[in-house]
Amino acid sequence: MRAVLVLGAFLVAVYSQETFIGLLYNSYPQIDFWLEPSRPLMPIDIQVPREHVQSVKAFFEFNGIGYSILIEDLQLLLDEEKKEMVLSRHKERKSQTFNYASYHTLEEIYTWMDSFVASNSGLVSKMQIGTTFENRPIYVLRFSTGGINRPAIWINFGIHAREWISPATSLWLANKFVSEYGKDTSVTSLLNTMDLYLELVTNPDGFQFTHTNNRMWRKTRSTYAGNACTGVDPNRNFDANFGGPGASGNSCSSTYHGPYVSSEKEVKAIVDFVKSHGNFKVFIDVHSYSQLLMFPYGYTSTQPKDYGELLDLSKISVDSLTSLHGTKYRYGPIFTTIYQSSGSSIDWAYDQGIKYAFCFELRDTGRYGFILPANQIIPTAEETYLGLMEILNHARENPY
Ligand SMILES: [Zn+2]
Repeated sequence: MRAVLVLGAFLVAVYSQETFIGLLYNSYPQIDFWLEPSRPLMPIDIQVPREHVQSVKAFFEFNGIGYSILIEDLQLLLDEEKKEMVLSRHKERKSQTFNYASYHTLEEIYTWMDSFVASNSGLVSKMQIGTTFENRPIYVLRFSTGGINRPAIWINFGIHAREWISPATSLWLANKFVSEYGKDTSVTSLLNTMDLYLELVTNPDGFQFTHTNNRMWRKTRSTYAGNACTGVDPNRNFDANFGGPGASGNSCSSTYHGPYVSSEKEVKAIVDFVKSHGNFKVFIDVHSYSQLLMFPYGYTSTQPKDYGELLDLSKISVDSLTSLHGTKYRYGPIFTTIYQSSGSSIDWAYDQGIKYAFCFELRDTGRYGFILPANQIIPTAEETYLGLMEILNHARENPY
């Protein structure tokens, strides 16, 4: 990973998206897309190994494509991130407290989960909903104050392994819900009416791999006979126009849709759980980065039947989120807000009849990309909480 740099480029109108991206892919298979190929005139962010930088720059210049350097030396950021984790771990051990303002390994998160459940056993329980390709348990935290099969809220984090801010935010949120219950009227009414399910680490194998092998890993870690590369993009693996535009059939692509619908055990676990529960009213998938709040559809430009309500609610949510630290978000259907994508989680959820289906893309917009400094974890979580609560309150007040 040493001497890698990240370039931000603006696509120009002379190319169709497919032509340009195809050309880029074919010329430089070593490029890793951080901000995926989007529509013309929208920026892309790419990670380029040092040895290809001059040539990629020349390629852009030859084709009249403007670019700027976002991160000069990625390894410096990764070293800094690692150093902070070690320091924080040391402090945590000394003080016997958990630091929500630090990134954590899978093992640390799973340990935290157990102590969190133990100290909040009246409200929170842990459920295993499946196992991963590499046989790790997949857990969800269930927040419930009683009742039978109450209307429920699903929120999953970290389906893409390298998007560390997502699981980090989830831990803070879990703790926030517990500390506000009985104090804050919104949280109290919410948890007195609905059950809340948080999947803190949705792609445990991939997440583990980002800690041990490759910080920039995105996909699952599954392998299939005949495939040249490891891993499937779990957010292209759902049964929502599976294999359609905006997903790749090439196993080496970071948006590879997998061999068949729900082939990934991590995806199947969600699908089976959500279907068998049968009373989910909200389904939210939390990613990074780009600062977006999106709703269906990704696989078609056709507007969902609840378009007006989802658009209004997005605006309310984003306004609330922005009010805290000024973080600007864009919002709208996936298709028009970023790009066409097939097989995504929220499209699937919406087509299952879960009306309040949203996808967050958390901070930032490319300054640090996936390597968001740990000192932004709490501000990110705080603002996300405000945006989230608007959606959850609306769902509670508008039963269907
Ligand atoms: Zn993602």
